[in-house]
Amino acid sequence: MDLPVVIAGAGIGGLSAALALGAGGHDVLVVEKADELAEVGAGLQLSPNACRVLDDLGVLDSLMPHAVAPGGIRIGSGRTGREIVKIELGERIAARHGAPYLVVHRADLQKALFDRALHQGRIDIRLGSEILEVGDTPDGTLQCHVRSGGVIAQITARALIGADGVWSRVRERVSGHAQAKYTGLTAYRATLPAEKVNGDLLADTGLWLGPDAHLVHYPIRAGREFNLVALVPEKWTEEGWSATADRETLLGHFRAWAPNVRSLLEKPDTWLKWALCGVDAEGPWSDGRIALLGDAAHAMLPFAAQGAAMAIEDAAVLAHLFPRSATDIRAVFRAYEAARKRRVKKVQKTAAENGRIYHLGGPLAVGRDTVMKLMRPDRLSARQDWIYGWTPPR
Ligand SMILES: Cc1cc2nc3c(=O)[nH]c(=O)nc-3n(C[C@H](O)[C@H](O)[C@H](O)COP(=O)(O)OP(=O)(O)OC[C@H]3O[C@@H](n4cnc5c(N)ncnc54)[C@H](O)[C@@H]3O)c2cc1C
Repeated sequence: MDLPVVIAGAGIGGLSAALALGAGGHDVLVVEKADELAEVGAGLQLSPNACRVLDDLGVLDSLMPHAVAPGGIRIGSGRTGREIVKIELGERIAARHGAPYLVVHRADLQKALFDRALHQGRIDIRLGSEILEVGDTPDGTLQCHVRSGGVIAQITARALIGADGVWSRVRERVSGHAQAKYTGLTAYRATLPAEKVNGDLLADTGLWLGPDAHLVHYPIRAGREFNLVALVPEKWTEEGWSATADRETLLGHFRAWAPNVRSLLEKPDTWLKWALCGVDAEGPWSDGRIALLGDAAHAMLPFAAQGAAMAIEDAAVLAHLFPRSATDIRAVFRAYEAARKRRVKKVQKTAAENGRIYHLGGPLAVGRDTVMKLMRPDRLSARQDWIYGWTPPR
């Protein structure tokens, strides 16, 4: 047996990378600090670029029964409560890009990846195990210090992939890479049983734009649940995905919004929240036999709904460039970074720009709404082609 490629983190990026590398013949050890894959996180929109890779990984078929393919994205004004434009998704986008646009619960995607990894044969996953440090060995391999329970074990690895998320520990070993920075935005999230909302809302993704805030909602869990995410500016900073939020504080941010949108925000009794961080993708993504992937390398604002998609794309590209027979792993990781960086930076920039546009107020918001109304929906849709039309190297 070869020395394993160790992956820190069994999130969306880590498990995708494990599957892609396992398919290429690598022995893979995934080390995940959580004791179980609990239902952290929220809904995810999975655009065709991500679904195409999931299909290659053999995960799409098992994910489909838990997903919804929304008919479109209905963009509305939070101020007036009226729809501005509807961008078609559904069969139209699947035909245009050869892969579907789905909305899922993150936990359903993670479970589909996990189950597939368990049966692949080359992947060992250790839950409740945390990467603490990484050292070099005299023969050029890596020594990973992994804590499981109270015990610290040394694991010799051929290479280490840091897919350990926005607060990555592995990133500390990649000199010159920027650390995570709070963006001053907080995401509030809630889920409701689908029967608590008007059935019309379960067919599409809803996106409501307003001054300094926006609201996204869509069905998840095969349409059994309704997911709401509201983004607002807040000074609050705390690591983690699931802090309990104050409902009244959230509603306060939307005081001036139209009653039909406010009534949606009033439905959930409990909300969770997390502070949004970004990681500048500019710095190096690798250092010798260590490489970063997903949020660890380039966490971005959620305004393009592409964070998980970029992690999934990273996994496909990394595995493609990393044959099992590779001896110069440093060169492999440099090639991976070179192949990914331009695109990821462009998506990161687009997400930030979308955020600025979504949160406009006053006359600028009126101008934005008018431009959107005047633009044909298919032209608005075509603006995403460079993101959704990406295909993995084969
Ligand atoms: C409000 C919001 C909405 C979003 N919506 C979308 C969307 O619609 N579409 C989309 O594509 N993306 C979306 N994203 C982004 C997406 O959630 C992330 O980009 C994605 O989850 C990142 O995956 P990852 O595998 O890199 O990290 P994560 O999923 O965070 O996984 C990291 C894993 O590493 C583990 N870990 C951490 N440290 C260690 C350690 N030292 N040792 C071992 N394990 C460790 C963690 O426990 C975790 O399981 C959204 C994000 C937010 C905040």
